[in-house]
Amino acid sequence: MILDDQHYDVIIVGTGAGGGTLARKLAPSGKRILLLERGDAMPLEEQNISDVDIFQKQRYHAPEQWYDSDGEPFTPQMKYAIGGNTKIYGAALQRMRERDFETVNHQDGISPEWCLKYGDFEPYYTEAEAMYQVHGQSGADPTDPPRSGGYPYPAVAHNPTIQPVVEGIEQQGYHPYPLPMSLSLREDDPTGDSEVFGVAPALDYGNVTLKTSAKVTSILTNPSGTAARAVQAEVNGQPYLFMADIIVLACGAINSAALLLQSANEKHPHGLANSSDQVGRNLMKIHMSSIVEVTAQPNSGKFPRSVGVNDFYWGSDLFDYPMGHIQNMGGVLQDAIFAESPPVLSLITKFMPNFGLKQLATRSIPWWAMTEVLPDPKNRVEVKGGKLYVHFAVNNAEAHDRLVYRWLDVLKAVEKDSSLFSRSGLHPRGEVPLPVMAYQCGTCRMGTDSTTSVLDVNCRAHELDNLYVVDSSFMPSSPSVGNALTIIANALRVGDHLLERLG
Ligand SMILES: Cc1cc2nc3c(=O)[nH]c(=O)nc-3n(C[C@H](O)[C@H](O)[C@H](O)COP(=O)(O)OP(=O)(O)OC[C@H]3O[C@@H](n4cnc5c(N)ncnc54)[C@H](O)[C@@H]3O)c2cc1C
Repeated sequence: MILDDQHYDVIIVGTGAGGGTLARKLAPSGKRILLLERGDAMPLEEQNISDVDIFQKQRYHAPEQWYDSDGEPFTPQMKYAIGGNTKIYGAALQRMRERDFETVNHQDGISPEWCLKYGDFEPYYTEAEAMYQVHGQSGADPTDPPRSGGYPYPAVAHNPTIQPVVEGIEQQGYHPYPLPMSLSLREDDPTGDSEVFGVAPALDYGNVTLKTSAKVTSILTNPSGTAARAVQAEVNGQPYLFMADIIVLACGAINSAALLLQSANEKHPHGLANSSDQVGRNLMKIHMSSIVEVTAQPNSGKFPRSVGVNDFYWGSDLFDYPMGHIQNMGGVLQDAIFAESPPVLSLITKFMPNFGLKQLATRSIPWWAMTEVLPDPKNRVEVKGGKLYVHFAVNNAEAHDRLVYRWLDVLKAVEKDSSLFSRSGLHPRGEVPLPVMAYQCGTCRMGTDSTTSVLDVNCRAHELDNLYVVDSSFMPSSPSVGNALTIIANALRVGDHLLERLG
């Protein structure tokens, strides 16, 4: 074991939406900050894949196996790299609605109230949108929460492929809005992410150190178990020990929970910070279906995401419960999650047997239907015999089905009498499978009661004075609009707390 000879003020484990953002927030303080990232820099050519290559199986999968409830191994769709999953995300950065922070009755149960409210997050959403250069248009979506200011950059125009569809949706009385997008304005790397807006600017400060290929394997505590003292990591395969006053986990909801569980010691026999037995529980990930419109003419397959629809977010005239969010996917040759939806592709292939993959991909306008999954203690991460198990069963399924069928009705009305669409009237669709880990959250939820939550209101572990978690683990519920902006805003909020604590 090599003992690092530095003593840091803060160690941050993971450089994704939570960790990368926190690093940038803390960097100007002059405190000694160490970032430990198990991945490496992701080459530009790998980031910008937007061709049939994207369908290459396992392209964006982590080089490891996890196990489902039946003990079947699978490789999760995750990116271990500087910037984490934001290196492959869609970059649609949306605020949670005000009501998302409250108790909401869903058809299948309750989405719990947060101990903080939208008003607590608003200043941090504003800071997050500025940091991630979000392009949007305020007031276009009737479900938008109140904002203290406009978006830092104007929304981007819809691509000609999607513009007539947007008009057709509007003609039915719905409210399609420009999807708020993080854009770097760089030609070689157009979408914003936590490397570009978090880690890279943090590294401009001499007090910030980044170690890559550094996989943290456990957190060590003081003998009484009241504080974290060090992290053990494998750096390029070599065991290392790093010490700090404050340790922050930002490994993503599944990996942070696993790290706490596998760091069990005499004082924390069931895993660090886990006397409540809540670590790893209440894993959520948005229930997503892809829905494809088949077009008569080819498009590039590479047009960007640009439109969202929240008219069914809180329900509809026929269904009194929340249903969720709709967004266009952009061209299918750009979406890493769609590439995981084999039922969709095999269906399309059936109807266009003479076309190659590229042709059929370029005759599609794909959509995501996204519905909140409710926290359920049985949906959980477990570590047994050194293996990571993900127990996950989708709930709130009727709300999702209703969203899908309602959206199909909208699309059919758009397509009626239009020469732009195939006459088949078919809409291949498919639900994303378990290995798609996008939008994972929960597992270490924040709350005021240490018997039902893992983290306090500052995202500090109830049981350890100096251990924090700033990735998506903290979320008590999972908004249908996506969670990256909320993770970023929360990291900025926790950053303010840490700056005060560090003095
Ligand atoms: C294909 C895809 C598309 C998406 N599109 C959108 C979107 O359009 N809008 C949206 O809001 N959200 C989107 N998401 C979700 C969003 O990317 C995630 O919610 C967000 O990145 C999670 O942030 P995080 O900080 O929790 O974890 P991550 O961003 O996953 O970061 C975790 C980091 O920790 C590192 N790490 C893990 N374990 C260890 C360890 N033991 N030691 C050291 N380092 C470790 C990882 O390498 C990674 O860098 C998408 C996700 C995917 C996969």
